[in-house]
Order: sequence, then C-alpha cells, then structure tokens
Amino acid sequence: MKNVLIVKGHFIYTKTPERFEVYESSCLVSVDGKVEGIYPVIPDRFKGCPVHDYGNRLVIPGFVDLHLHAAQFFQSGIGMTKQLLDWLSDYTFDLEREFQNRKFAREAYTCFAEKLVACGTLRACIFASSSTAGTEELFEVLKEKRIGAYVGKVNMDRNAPDFIIETTEESLRGTKYLIEKYQGENRVKPIITPRFAPTSTPELLKGLGDLAVKYDLPVQSHLSENMDEIRWVQDLFKGAKNYSDVYFKNNLFGQTKTVMAHGIYLDDDEKALVKKMDLMLAHCPDSNINVRSGIMPVRTYLDMGIKIGLGSDIAGGHKIGLNEAMVRAIQLSKLLNLENDKLKPLTVSEAFYMGTKSGGSFFGKIGSFEKKFCFDALVLEDDPMIAQRYSLEDRLEKFIYAGDDRNICARYVEGKKL
Ligand SMILES: [Zn+2]
Repeated sequence: MKNVLIVKGHFIYTKTPERFEVYESSCLVSVDGKVEGIYPVIPDRFKGCPVHDYGNRLVIPGFVDLHLHAAQFFQSGIGMTKQLLDWLSDYTFDLEREFQNRKFAREAYTCFAEKLVACGTLRACIFASSSTAGTEELFEVLKEKRIGAYVGKVNMDRNAPDFIIETTEESLRGTKYLIEKYQGENRVKPIITPRFAPTSTPELLKGLGDLAVKYDLPVQSHLSENMDEIRWVQDLFKGAKNYSDVYFKNNLFGQTKTVMAHGIYLDDDEKALVKKMDLMLAHCPDSNINVRSGIMPVRTYLDMGIKIGLGSDIAGGHKIGLNEAMVRAIQLSKLLNLENDKLKPLTVSEAFYMGTKSGGSFFGKIGSFEKKFCFDALVLEDDPMIAQRYSLEDRLEKFIYAGDDRNICARYVEGKKL
C-alpha cells in the first residue's frame, strides 16, 4: 500500500508569479510524499486514509532559502553598521574559526537548524565554514532535522586570516571527503562552495570546478555584491573579462547547476551569461541594505527572464525567517520604483513565488502544491479575529509581513510531519 496522507485546510500557493492559487476548505492528498491533487472533498479511493484536519488554518508551501551562512548564525544582528569587507574581518572570521571544534559546531549548528526549521525554511543552500570536521557536523544535524539542504564546506586558500584558510590541497581534500561521504544522501547533499573569488587562488577554483564536473555537483558562491569587491576581483584575476568570467572559466558558472548570491552590479555580458547558463541568482534584500552593498535590480532581471530566488543571507541578513526576505524584497523594489517608475514594484505573489517555487526549482519539484510536487508545507495559525474578518490572501499577506515562527503550527517535508 502506498503512503497516503490527507490534509484538510485552506491551501494557497503560486504556480506562476502573477497570482496566488487559492483553495478554500479543501483536501490535499499526498501519496508517497508527493502532491496527488487538491479536492473539495476526499475522493472515494482515498476514504479511510489518515487525515490531518487543520480546519480554518492556512496551508502554504515550505520556504526555500537559497543563501545563508550557518556558521554566522550567532552573529546575526551584530556589526550591522559595517561595510562588507570590514564586517568580515572584524566579526565573521573569528566566529567561523570556532567551528573547527566539533562540540561547538554541533551545538551551534543545532541552534541554527532549530530556528531555521521553526521559521518555516524546509529547503536551503547553506554555507558552513572552512572546517571539514565542522561541516560534517552540520550535515549530521540537518539529517536529524529531516529537512532538505545543500551544504557546502567553504573553500578558502588566501586573503583571509591564517587561522581559517587552508592550503589548496587541504581544501580540496576535505571537500572530496565530504562529497564521497554524503553524495548518496537523500535530502542533505554536498554543494561546491568557494567562499568567493578573492579568497580562492586560481588553482583552487580550477580544482573545485573539476570536482563539480566529475561528481556532477551543484555550485554556490557570491557574485558582484559590492563595488570594492568587484575592483578587488579585477586586480586579482587580470586575465578575466569580468567577475562572472572568473567562475565561468573554472566550470563554476552553470556548467553544473549553480546558484550565485547577490549579482547586484552585473554588466551586460554577465547578465547574458547568467541567462545563457541558466544560473539561479539569490536575492538577499536584508544584506543588500545591512552591509550597504546596493540593491539588486530585481525587476530588470525578471524582465530579462533571469531566475531569482530569495536568501536570508544570515548573517549579512539579520532575520532567518524567509517571509522577512519577501517583505524586504518588496520594499526595496518600491525604492527602485521611486527612482525610476518604469521599474514596477514586486507584488506579494511575486515575492512569495521567489521564496517558494522559484527557489524550490533548484531542488527539483519543490515549492508548490501542483501535482507531483513534493508535499513540503507549513500550517499557519492566525488570530481568530483576523481569520474571521479577512480573505485568505489577506491573511497570508499579514503572516508574510507581520508573522513569525509562533504562527507556524505544523511543518511537513515530503508528506511527513516534522
Ligand atoms: Zn553570503
């Protein structure tokens, strides 16, 4: 017998960015962890199967965070008046060093994972630290939590303090060890993770690209976040046409599935390459502001057909709940619209789509309740006075803008309640 679960409630999701699909008081049937359909009443063939009845509550797809740093979780909300490169050297590197200690790593990553799941993120692309042992702990913690994730040991072999960089050889060896240990996992899998171009020698980038291609692994890194950083890349990689070209030449730019965080200042050639190589960009609006990087021109990219998901970018971002990133993405798009009224602000459904189905596409059929999508879901509980008064879409918008983990009363990954 197949594993069937029926969930009752109000279902809202986005099939396309333009609008919400809304199913009031309906029954979603999940078979072997995949959505079979949403029906007004339970179809006869599923009568007698287990039912989880959420009454007047909303059920939405789980959030997908395309960019965050687990090793920076304790630092979120600290040092927020610094610019990127100062912030890294004044705060981040010291904390990341602690993750060489397995006991510390296990405890800190457990705090991180508990908050991540509590806030509704059920799939994530995560940077760990440069420590192989520490990263191994993160894999184990996330496996226990039963969410889906790509986890990257952070590769660095120059331009960071000695206590967190490795030799090129050590960095590649540790990466290979983790790939071989975890590549067969179901949900928590390895991803190639050069921190960013400036902390990598050309040899390291080449070695990482070779591993990505050899094991057919996805890639994540940072791209074009800040003007100082871009100038630095130009100085370090004299032969490269632009920032993107540094990754591209090393098989780290779409040769396998790739997500790049930020991409704020891409030139025309880079935009065309991002599109051609079918890259996913992670828009991290909180960190755009906090470390004063600049604002990603989301509307321009969307109009060009570039794929964009959302990232909390803990700890450049200060809040781990992805609904916060949806709100900030909308707010920043309004600021850009004030400067140029041709750039239409994002709608709530567009922001929601980026944080669910668009980001989810990096993982497969994730982030929607269409047939055959994994049943990853959050059940939302709001105040009965609000629930009585407002439409289902209004209630969802209120949760996105003003809600948090206290409003999430159940979470499902692939049809199983966490
Ligand atoms: Zn980042």
